[in-house]
Amino acid sequence: MPDRITSADPRAGYLAAQNEIDAAIARVLRSGTYIHGEELAAFEREFAHWLGVAGAVGVANGTDALELALRALGVGPGDAVATVANTVTATAAAIVATGAEPVFVEIDPDTMVMDPAALADCFSTRRLRAVVPVHLYGQPCDVPRVLDIARRNGAFVVEDCAQAHGAALGGRAAGTWGDLAAFSFYPTKNLGALGDAGGVAGNDAALLERVRRLRQYGWRTRYVSEEYGRNSRLDEIQAAILRVRLGKLDTDNARRRELAEVLLNTLKGSPLRLPPVLPRQTHCWHQFVVRTPHRDALKVKLERENIFGGILYATPVHRQPGFAQAVSLPHTEAACAEVFSLPLHPGLTIADVERVAKATLAALAELPAS
Ligand SMILES: *Cc1c(COP(=O)(O)O)cnc(C)c1O
Repeated sequence: MPDRITSADPRAGYLAAQNEIDAAIARVLRSGTYIHGEELAAFEREFAHWLGVAGAVGVANGTDALELALRALGVGPGDAVATVANTVTATAAAIVATGAEPVFVEIDPDTMVMDPAALADCFSTRRLRAVVPVHLYGQPCDVPRVLDIARRNGAFVVEDCAQAHGAALGGRAAGTWGDLAAFSFYPTKNLGALGDAGGVAGNDAALLERVRRLRQYGWRTRYVSEEYGRNSRLDEIQAAILRVRLGKLDTDNARRRELAEVLLNTLKGSPLRLPPVLPRQTHCWHQFVVRTPHRDALKVKLERENIFGGILYATPVHRQPGFAQAVSLPHTEAACAEVFSLPLHPGLTIADVERVAKATLAALAELPAS
């Protein structure tokens, strides 16, 4: 049996920087400061600099990053917040956690990210306090148009950048457009910790300061809770690990791009619907997502070759038992029925993805056409 190829491999990411990560962890252990110390402050500065924004605030995970960003903007009970349904339920859970109601907007059938025209329609029928577009799979959404529509309707924009570390539009990074941006540093993301972590980024110092209070009991000064705030801290060990991983992020993303090009070239002309490559857009290839009506059969056939792809996401949020809404989103539902992530991460070689592409073509040849 050939080697196992999986759609993510956080252990390979650790091993690729093992000495530096072990040294970073040892440095924290010996420092005696385990929460909110120099490592977090340095990571926040370095991440903001890398992204090209004024500041960043580390929090416990990506879901909290979304929730605290929305709350810093004043979103709360009685508000409605637009997002998409082809995302992790975390995006909707963060909206619910503020007390607001998630409103699901249809996607563009080609890019599978929020359709600005559908968002405009949504505003014509109801008041929305904020919009959370998701740069899904590393594919940037049309955030300039989303922003324009939101601004004209007096709504805020929080970009969900959990899959978009390194994505850009017209050379400007995803996460620098909206009022605030939320990142996840879950181990399998393009920038991943070795545990949970997240961050909020932006250019408005007062908003970032508010996120800083909300992540720790509403404190600006120790023991003085100026407002309701909970515990959503990013610890020193994860911050130190993230500093090491951040130093490799551009190289890792270049690797992802190189592997994506091999897949795009090899699978060109196959019956698969390949991810769109659009001018002026930088995809950061968090996922390499193809579409086929034979997705489940393709997945099983590849597994026989020891190749494990992923399905992000088989059930849209508005069809999840915990979030069920009666809305109909045909493009979203069609996408969820067909999407399949071929393995792609910086721990793979060109030979690995060539094997994935070959096995995919062989599997497709055995499946009915269309
Ligand atoms: C991973 C992810 C989240 C949630 O991040 P956590 O760190 O797991 O809380 C939110 N939105 C999207 C699009 C994600 O991929």
